[in-house]
Amino acid sequence: MSIPEKHSFQAEIQQLLDIVIHSLYTDREIFVRELISNAADACEKLRFLQASGQAIVDPDAPLLIQVKTDEKEGTVRFIDSGIGMSREDLVENLGTIAHSGTKAFLKGLAEEKRADAKLIGQFGVGFYAAFMVAEQVTVESRPHQPDGVACRWVSQGTTGYELEASSRPQRGTEIALKLKSDAATYAQESTLEAIIRRYSAFVPIPIELNGKRLNTVQALWTRNRSEIKEDEYNEFYQFLGHDHQPALLRLHFTADAPLAIQSLLFVPQTNFESMGLGRMESEVNLYCRKVLIQSKAKHLFPDWLRFLRGVVDSEDLPLNISRETMQDSSLMQRLNKALTGRFLKMLEETAEKDPETYRKFYGEYSRFLKEGVVTDAAHKQGLGKLLRYESSALDAGVHTSLADYVKRMPADQKEIYCLLATSRESGLSSPFYEVFAARKFEVLLLQDPWDEFVVEHLDRFDDKPLRLAEKADLDLSDKPSSGLSDEQAGALARWMKETLGEKVNEVRLSKRLLDSPVLAVDSNKYMTASMRRMLRSAKRDAGGLEASKSDFEFNPAHVLLAQLDALRQKDAALAGKVAEQLFDNARIAAGLLEDPREMLKRSNQLLTELLAAKQA
Ligand code: ADP
Ligand code: MG
Repeated sequence: MSIPEKHSFQAEIQQLLDIVIHSLYTDREIFVRELISNAADACEKLRFLQASGQAIVDPDAPLLIQVKTDEKEGTVRFIDSGIGMSREDLVENLGTIAHSGTKAFLKGLAEEKRADAKLIGQFGVGFYAAFMVAEQVTVESRPHQPDGVACRWVSQGTTGYELEASSRPQRGTEIALKLKSDAATYAQESTLEAIIRRYSAFVPIPIELNGKRLNTVQALWTRNRSEIKEDEYNEFYQFLGHDHQPALLRLHFTADAPLAIQSLLFVPQTNFESMGLGRMESEVNLYCRKVLIQSKAKHLFPDWLRFLRGVVDSEDLPLNISRETMQDSSLMQRLNKALTGRFLKMLEETAEKDPETYRKFYGEYSRFLKEGVVTDAAHKQGLGKLLRYESSALDAGVHTSLADYVKRMPADQKEIYCLLATSRESGLSSPFYEVFAARKFEVLLLQDPWDEFVVEHLDRFDDKPLRLAEKADLDLSDKPSSGLSDEQAGALARWMKETLGEKVNEVRLSKRLLDSPVLAVDSNKYMTASMRRMLRSAKRDAGGLEASKSDFEFNPAHVLLAQLDALRQKDAALAGKVAEQLFDNARIAAGLLEDPREMLKRSNQLLTELLAAKQA
């Protein structure tokens, strides 16, 4: 037995240890991730040396990471058959914080221009995470050289460490933690199993916990697309997405610049929010070299892409960074931008090459795209390309993109017209549609109440303004012949304004009605009936929405108006009632009448008078 040799930590180490132990990491459990990552790195390094023909002790010993817990003793051990550390390595790598042996190794490789080994560590503090949970850490290591000498390193993570000779025969490193009393849970097999599965499920070296193999699923995203079978993708998705159905869409892509990204993303068959299961949470996990950094990573995608599931792996992420720092880092924003752009491009390609699948996707997820248009200014134009609507120019059930609509626009049409309607039929029979039919302008039939906000926020597509049909400033090209002279029509308008009084804002002769007698629009240029309804229901309790005022348009060419004009000379009282009823009819058609009670009463009176006149 040799006598242990005492060493003090490097000068700044006390301070740095304090930071690592108390504030660098938010979750104590990540010490498991760090020690396993180091073990995996050590194995990868060995594999590399072996491949480059170096002499290695126990060349046939398999590369393996073993984790062993002892609840009674309150210990957990991490054992690997990797590269190992000599006495000098131990002093250098573990006695010096922020000295990363991995970095030195990579630098050595780079100098040899063979920097192809895939290693996790870069930052040089991961090992010290062990002291968050351990009152004592013992590292026993046998380096890989055939003549290597084993050594033991022991520390309480306070002032320094002790070194002594070791009789460990097998290649590699064993790190034993004597857990602090408040960290006893980490000696429990079930606790450790959950942690390893969470962070290290895809580490490419086999991991055994108390003899049981834990990581059996491959990190599929790091493999070459052309070598992966459909079944493998399905299996992976089901493992990752906890979904019994295969995914609806998949995006597997790799980028080197400006960021190194490997990503495998899935869209589930079903939109789980539509099933009333509440708001979904993004289930995309962020990895760095196959090691989990953040599960359900926030800010990796915009909120409206929260239906995605999958994996994003970026070598550019520093592994040892804590969660808080990740979130505001500009790196995250750059990842977000690159990933979102790529995903939108994939949707566009799908729409083009596989319309059937795109239709399914749109059926499930159109609301998310619309949410994106409204909330994400950076992507709204890209999202505009993905919207689909029924159109007056196409058969029922057929959807068009805005791009195709624009292609069909005649030269004299300057705007994209959108008609809000509860159904295709009601849209096409609405008085607002008449002017478009007459001028042969195509109208998109928007049937989702959200579409009004989409039109408002998207504002234009391909430089063409999007215009709600009811707000369009369009005249019929040929004025229909009228039973009323201009003068008579003008007098009728003035009389109507007098008769309707405060209820109406403005009465005018319509230039857009062909078959309908009357039409009403909200006087507020920026307000529509459906928006008013939505605001009203949102403000029901606050009660603060100003009452709606409508403009009233009538069609002087319509026979009803000529008859009304004649009636008002003979029976002004009856004509007044008819005018009020016409105004209410127009407001009903436009969805602007809030309280129908007065209208119903009047309508019954008019019917009574009609029947009485018939019987007379
Ligand atoms: P990093 O992994 O970022 O380099 P760590 O603090 O995690 O920093 O580890 C410091 C160094 O200690 C590593 O770079 C590596 O050289 C060495 N090391 C740690 N654990 C092992 C191990 N199990 N086998 C071999 N070397 C190790
Ligand atoms: Mg490390």
